[in-house]
Amino acid sequence: MKTIKIYCKECEIELTSELTEFPETNLHWEDYDQSIIEKGKFSFLKNTGSNKESIVVAIDDYNLVNHSDNYRFYGCCRSDGTNGLNKLCVNGHEVATEFSDCWTGHYIEFDDDKVIIEEKNRTIVFLKNETKNLLRKIIAY
Ligand SMILES: [Zn+2]
Ligand SMILES: [Zn+2]
Repeated sequence: MKTIKIYCKECEIELTSELTEFPETNLHWEDYDQSIIEKGKFSFLKNTGSNKESIVVAIDDYNLVNHSDNYRFYGCCRSDGTNGLNKLCVNGHEVATEFSDCWTGHYIEFDDDKVIIEEKNRTIVFLKNETKNLLRKIIAY
């Protein structure tokens, strides 16, 4: 079970507190309009189309601010996540997308090209290959 923190790749500011791993297979995709994952957890998510991996977390209090462009939060009642990254670090770098509409699961997805993942323990040798790619910087904290 991995414990990580997520940082902005651009300015290296901390975006989340410690998060523990939640298996991708346990994400609640079948239930619309509610959280797909528990608070305080994270899951790696593989996009089967692009083969790109991202990190999903529950909607919660993080060190994030909303994008000033309301279009990024487009949806029939809240954000359906289809108009680009809508969550920024406090220094204004786009890092994540909020999904919170009535017809989507509710979560925040961090773009792995925009963030640094730090794992609490130096156990990189045991990680999967795709996870290693996410570990731009490993430190114990
Ligand atoms: Zn930043
Ligand atoms: Zn809606």
